[in-house]
Amino acid sequence: MALTLYDTMAREKRVFVPADPARVTFYACGPTVYNFSHIGNARAFIVFDLLYRMLRQRYGAEHVVYARNITDIDDKIIKAARETGEPIMAITDKYTKLFHGDMKALGALAPVIEPTATGHIAKMIAMIETLIGKGAAYEGDDHVLFAVDKYADYGKLSGTQRDEMIAGARVEVAPYKKNPADFVLWKPSGDDEPGWASPWGRGRPGWHLECSVMIESELGRTIDIHGGGQDLRFPHHENEIAQSACAHDGAPLARYWVHNGFLRMGTDKMSKSLGNVVLAHDLLADWPGEVIRWALLSAHYRQPLEWTDDLLRQSKRQLDRFYRLLEEVEFSDSNEAAPDSVVAALEDDLNTPEAFAALHALRDSASQMKGEARTEAIRQMASAGRLMGFFNVDPDNWRKGITIEASAELGAHAGASVKSEIVPGLTEARIEELLEERAKARAAKDFAKSDQIRDDLATQGVAIEDGPDGATWRRI
Ligand code: AMP
Ligand code: ZN
Repeated sequence: MALTLYDTMAREKRVFVPADPARVTFYACGPTVYNFSHIGNARAFIVFDLLYRMLRQRYGAEHVVYARNITDIDDKIIKAARETGEPIMAITDKYTKLFHGDMKALGALAPVIEPTATGHIAKMIAMIETLIGKGAAYEGDDHVLFAVDKYADYGKLSGTQRDEMIAGARVEVAPYKKNPADFVLWKPSGDDEPGWASPWGRGRPGWHLECSVMIESELGRTIDIHGGGQDLRFPHHENEIAQSACAHDGAPLARYWVHNGFLRMGTDKMSKSLGNVVLAHDLLADWPGEVIRWALLSAHYRQPLEWTDDLLRQSKRQLDRFYRLLEEVEFSDSNEAAPDSVVAALEDDLNTPEAFAALHALRDSASQMKGEARTEAIRQMASAGRLMGFFNVDPDNWRKGITIEASAELGAHAGASVKSEIVPGLTEARIEELLEERAKARAAKDFAKSDQIRDDLATQGVAIEDGPDGATWRRI
C-alpha cells in the first residue's frame, strides 16, 4: 500500500514519497489569534490532524515534524485591540489558549512545533534583505514590496492568470507598487501600532512572509507537505512560494500541496466576513468533541461540506452505535495495528467516506460474532477508530454523556484546558436515585409508578434498558 495525496500543484493524485523518511516535514498555516475559530477553520485543522496521524502511523511518530503556526501579528489583531481596549498580547494569548482547548476537545494532536510570527521577526528582516539583494524586492514609501515579475512561475499553484487577478481587483493597487500584483513584505507602523526596528524604519511584516520564514527557520528550505484551506491558494500560498523560491535560489518551498474544501452554510462558504459562522467553542458546549470531529470528517476533505444540525445528530447516533460495542471490551489507550481496510481508505488521499464505510463494516461483522472472536473484532474496530482520532472516551462515560477524553496522547496538548463534562439535564446521582425508586416500584408491582419514572427520564433524555443484571441507563 502506498500513501497517495492530491497535489494541488500537480493537479493530480501522487504517491507520497518524503525526501527523508526519517524526518517527514509538514506545515499547515495556523490561526490568526484575535477571535474564536469557527467550524470551517476547524475543518482545515482536523483534516490536517488526520494527515498528521497517517504520516505518524506510516513513518513513526518520532519521524514526523508537523508545524502549525500561530499568526500573532496582523492588522485584524491590531483592530481587535483598538476595539476592545485590550493589549495585543492579552488578545493573542487568550485566543491561542482557547484555540488549543478547542483543538484538544476535537481530538487534534498537538503539532510538534507551533512557531509564532512575532518569534521570527529578525529572520523575516533577514529574508527581506536577501530578496532585495537578489533584485526580487524593492522599497517604496517605507514599504518593501515583492516584485512578482521576478518569479517566472508566479500563479502556477492557483492557475490564476495574473491579469485576471488584477482585473478581479483581488490585489490592492497602491502608489508605491511598481506592479499592482506586487505584495507587501514589510510595512511601516504608526506610533499606536506594534512595530520593530528595521533597515526600512519601524514597521511590521506582511502576512505571507511570516509563513515562508517560519518554514525556513523551523523545517528547512524545502518541506514535504504544505497544507491550508482552498482560499489560501491565492494569494497567500502563491506568495509564499515566490518569496521562498527567490530567497533560496529556486529551491521549491514544498514538494506536495494539500488544500481542503470549504465548509458551507447552505451554499455559502462559512466565513467571518459573511457573518454566517458557527464557533467550534459554542458547539463544544452542546456536543461531544468526537461528534463534531465525525461530522467534519464525514465528507472527503476536498469536497465541500454542508454544515447542518442534522449532520451532528446523525454523527452522534453513529458514534453511539460504536460505543455500545466498545462497552464490551476493556477500555485501553493502547493502539494495536488498525485493519487494512480502514488504513487503505485513509491512505488513498484521506478518503474518509470510504474509511467510515470500512469502519461500519467492521462493526457489523463484530456484532455478529461471539466469544473471543467478537472481542478481538471489537478491539480491531477500536484501533481503526482511534487511528482517525475517535473512541477516546471511556464507553461507560460516553453512555452517561460524560465526554472527557481519556487518551493520554491528547492530554499532552500544550496549554489545553480540560474539556468540561457535557451533562445536560439530570445529574448522574439523580438518575441513579430514580433508577432505584423504579426498581422498588417494580418489586412492589407498582408498574404505573415504574412506567412513570421511565417515561419521565425519557423526556429528559435518559433511556433505561432492562438487562439480566438489572437496569442500566444511557443519555440519548
Ligand atoms: P484563517 O484563520 O482565516 O486564516 O483560517 C484558518 C484556516 O481555515 C485556513 O487554512 C483557511 O483556509 C481555513 N478555512 C477558513 N474558512 C474555511 C471554511 N469555510 N471551510 C474550510 N476551511 C476554511
Ligand atoms: Zn501560511
